[in-house]
Amino acid sequence: METLFRDDAYCRTCEATVLSADETGIRLDRTVFYPMGGGQPGDTGVLRRADGGEVRIVDTHKGAGHDDVVHIPDAGTALPGAGERVTAEIDWDRRYRLMRMHSCLHVLCAAVTGDVTGGQVGDGKGRLDFNLPDTRLDKDEITAILNRIVAEDRPIVPRWITDAELEANPQLVRTMSVKPPSGSGSVRLLEIEGVDLQPCGGTHVRRTGEIGPVKVAKIENKGRQNRRINIAFAD
Ligand SMILES: [Zn+2]
Repeated sequence: METLFRDDAYCRTCEATVLSADETGIRLDRTVFYPMGGGQPGDTGVLRRADGGEVRIVDTHKGAGHDDVVHIPDAGTALPGAGERVTAEIDWDRRYRLMRMHSCLHVLCAAVTGDVTGGQVGDGKGRLDFNLPDTRLDKDEITAILNRIVAEDRPIVPRWITDAELEANPQLVRTMSVKPPSGSGSVRLLEIEGVDLQPCGGTHVRRTGEIGPVKVAKIENKGRQNRRINIAFAD
């Protein structure tokens, strides 16, 4: 399957051919739908059929194989047949909010020292867990750093390195819970110029300015050394 969101996160729609379809999922030869992974939820949207009908997609998952994307249809919807041409279209407003928040969590990685032990991107909010000793974390201080980097409007650029290069540079991996996808020979890195560089297969905005104003909503203690920082859009 051709995963168009990897090269262009702003691609909202594409023509595709149905490879297979049943109640458990629809597979296409190419897609703009991002499958749940790396803390980012799967896309929702529609598959438009030539006869004007629509198949509502309520979630997107990873399948068994590499680049296998499974589109989950709304229960009870009439399914397209194998070989049928459809137009795949994601719910863009939701995805764009997820892209902004996901990118913001990369900025948060740079604003706080300590290994990341987990995280979740949500619609309008997000969080990262940091393995931190008894450090005093200040909500307003972190909020100010985040908004400074947002205001600097820094470029956010994906690039690829080989598995071997990543192995030689283990410090690139900030996230302990999410192992970077490897085995395909190369790893996708996400760089926020001068701020953060780490493996990530998710979808991001092009510049930090697109994230918009954000705030630290809450800092929680989740067990010894574990600090959960919750972020929300400020507008
Ligand atoms: Zn990312």
